[in-house]
Amino acid sequence: MASLVVQTSFIGDTVLTTPLIAELARRGPVDVLTTPITGPLLANNPGIRRVILYDKRGADRGPVGLWRAARSTRELFDEGKKHPVSYDAAYLAQGSIRSAIAARLVGAKEYVGFSTSAGRALYTRVVPYREEKHHAERLWSLSSWNTRDAHAPGQLRPALYPGEKEREAVNAVLSQQPTANSQQLLIVLAPGSAWATKRWPYFAGLARILESGFRLAIIGSEAEQDLARTIRNEAAVEILDATGRLSLLASAELIGRAAAVVTNDSGPLHLASAMNTPTVAVFGPTVPAFGFGPLSSSSAVAGMDSLACRPCHRHGPRRCPLGHWRCMRDLSAEHVAELVESVAAEPLANTQQPTANS
Ligand code: SF4
Repeated sequence: MASLVVQTSFIGDTVLTTPLIAELARRGPVDVLTTPITGPLLANNPGIRRVILYDKRGADRGPVGLWRAARSTRELFDEGKKHPVSYDAAYLAQGSIRSAIAARLVGAKEYVGFSTSAGRALYTRVVPYREEKHHAERLWSLSSWNTRDAHAPGQLRPALYPGEKEREAVNAVLSQQPTANSQQLLIVLAPGSAWATKRWPYFAGLARILESGFRLAIIGSEAEQDLARTIRNEAAVEILDATGRLSLLASAELIGRAAAVVTNDSGPLHLASAMNTPTVAVFGPTVPAFGFGPLSSSSAVAGMDSLACRPCHRHGPRRCPLGHWRCMRDLSAEHVAELVESVAAEPLANTQQPTANS
């Protein structure tokens, strides 16, 4: 049974689609249509026959680009089949009308997506979108339309597969921190987020608390280099700045070597889940109940559960509508450091006692 998975959303959504891909791979070959940003994240995945890139905001923009991308996907499918018919099923892990049209243009016997998706009129099979479930399980449930199989324990944890290229890239970055004690456990800090109100403001204070017991590194995109510089200057302790220097999959490799990662509700949280790295996830205006909490076997969530205004937005507003931003400002560096201690792969030995909030 040949499957096409269409996933053109954010980094986290793509990572959380990997349990669905693994399930479908048990039944036959799986091709994945995704974006040039997230496609490289799926490299080396043993469940994927082919990653097909659809540059929906660039070269393939507009109806002509959509048609071109669909046609080339169809040609790739034909290459692998002597007497091509179509995919047995296309799974719309991203629910837009554009994705549904893309799947229709490629061709499949069944089109499977969520009951709440914008493109649902173009589906032949509709699966309930279970608000109360983790998003990895929601996506996995797309595979259940023609089976009664339940998922096995652990099957919902996403997985990424960094290769030799990523290992070499991480080795090169780590070798540029010669003064750090290589015996110290590594803590990875991921302070970025596309949404300003989801960026916890005390990473510098946390770095000062953790610095004596750990080797520290900051990850993020090139666009987050200014944020990393600000944190390093404010912390005034040794922190390896890996922002803009590692691909997403190499960032996953670095996270995989860490004793713990501290992250906002953003992409690195899901990279950590995929590498099963102990995770402290800081949630401000959003909550794990939206379905995007950590899935590592050791994890903790920092969040102001007592705040009545929380959650206030599905993704995080541009500014706090109440002006005080207490969902983040009241989450101290000391509290997060304690959570790091509780989840880290090995216990803290020499960590300073907390002295300041930031
Ligand atoms: S309204 Fe509440 S939850 Fe929303 S950003 Fe402000 S403090 Fe955070």
